[in-house]
Amino acid sequence: MTNAATFPQLVIPNTLAAGPGPGNTDARVLQAYAGAGIADHMQPDVLRGMIECKHMLRTFMGTANVYTFGVAGTGWSGLDCMMSAVMPGDTVVVFANGTFSGIDALTLRMKASTREELAADSLNPQPASVTVIDVPHGQSVTGEIVEAALSEHKPKWAFMAHWETGSGRINDIAGFSDACLKHDAMGLVDAVSSLGVADFAIDDYKGVVGWASCPQKGLLCLPLTYAPVSLTDRYIQTLRASGCYTYANHPIMEARHWGIVDGHDVEKGTYHRTHSGYAVSAFHEALRINLADGLAKRAQDYIFHEKALTTAVTAMGCEVTSNMTSLVVLSLPPAFAGREMELVQNCRAQGFGIWPTLSAPVQIRIGILNLLNQAAITEIVTRFGQAMNDIGADVDIAAITAGLETHFQSTMAA
Ligand SMILES: *Cc1c(COP(=O)(O)O)cnc(C)c1O
Repeated sequence: MTNAATFPQLVIPNTLAAGPGPGNTDARVLQAYAGAGIADHMQPDVLRGMIECKHMLRTFMGTANVYTFGVAGTGWSGLDCMMSAVMPGDTVVVFANGTFSGIDALTLRMKASTREELAADSLNPQPASVTVIDVPHGQSVTGEIVEAALSEHKPKWAFMAHWETGSGRINDIAGFSDACLKHDAMGLVDAVSSLGVADFAIDDYKGVVGWASCPQKGLLCLPLTYAPVSLTDRYIQTLRASGCYTYANHPIMEARHWGIVDGHDVEKGTYHRTHSGYAVSAFHEALRINLADGLAKRAQDYIFHEKALTTAVTAMGCEVTSNMTSLVVLSLPPAFAGREMELVQNCRAQGFGIWPTLSAPVQIRIGILNLLNQAAITEIVTRFGQAMNDIGADVDIAAITAGLETHFQSTMAA
C-alpha cells in the first residue's frame, strides 16, 4: 500500500534554466502567483484582471485585433486554439524547419484529415490536402520558399513558425505575410519563441490572420498560465462560418471569458471555463513587467547578450548555426563531434539545464531567457567551458571570461 509516507513532499531544485524554455520566471511573477487570494473565476477582481490582461496583450503584441486573449495552458494549447479553424479537407501549406514547426505540421495534418485519412494512420496522418515543405535543419524559411509554394498550391491556409526553437532559426515573417496576401492564403503563425524577445508588431503583417504564443518563454510567466493568441476579424468570420470541433479551445467561445463577445469588448467576461486567480494574477504581473521594460529594450538586451554568448562559445571552437537572439544552437569542435548528448547530460546532472536538439542532427542548445545580465552569461560560459574540459577539451576559461568582461565594458561605456 502506498501512503503519504511513501512519497515525502516533492522538492524540486532551483537549476540554471539555460535552455530554449521555460525561462526563469521573474520573482515578481511568482510573488503575484503566491500572493493572490482564493477567489473564484467570476469574482470581480479576477474578471477585471482578465480584461486588463487583454488590453496589455494587445499593446504587447502590437495589434488592434479584438480577438486577442490568453488560452489556458502552454504553447500547444494556444496553437491548438488557433489551428482549430482548420477543418477536414482544408488545403494547407506548412513550412517546417525543425522540431516545433514539425509538430505544428502534425497538428495541422490531424485537423485537416478526413475521417478516412485520420483512421489510415491516426498518429501520423498524411492528408492529401496538406503540403509540408521541409526546410533542412539549420536553415531559415525564406520569403522565396514561401512565395514559390503558395503560388504553386494556392492553399486556404499557410503556416510557419516565426522562430523555430528546434534549430534556433528565425524565419522570414515579412516574406511569409506578403506571399499570403499575394495568393490570398490565410497565414497562421507559431510565435511561441519570438513574442517578448523580438521587437515586432503583429499588425504589420497583414497576411497573417492568426498568431499563437506561450506563457513561459519571452513572457517569463511559467506558473502554468496563458498562451496568448491574436486572431483577425477575417479569421473569426471564417471560423464562425465553418465552426470547429472543440468547446474548450474554441476561439470565439473562449474569448467570452475575456470580455469579447460578437467582435466587441464588453465590460466583463462570461463563464467559459474555470480560471485561476493565481494564474490571472501572475499573468497580469508578467505583462506589466514586459510593458514597463518595453519590447524595444528587451529585444536590444537579447541581441547584446546573445552576441556575448555566441562570441564566447565560438572562441571555444564551437560552431554556432542559429540566429535567434534568445537561443544559441551549436556543434562541438570537430575533435568532439558526436559527443554533444554526453556533454548535455553531464551538464543537466549538475543542475545546468542546457538542451540537445530534439531532432537530428544532435546539437547543443543554450538559451538566455530572462538571463540578461553579465553574471548570468558569465556563469553559463564558465560552466559550459568546464563541461567541455571535463570531456577532454582544453578551453582557457580565464581568457574567455576576460573577453566577456571586455564585451560588457565596451557597451556600458558606449
Ligand atoms: C516551446 C515551443 C512550442 C511548445 O510550447 P509548449 O509551451 O511546450 O506547449 C511550440 N512552438 C515553438 C516554436 C516553441 O518554441
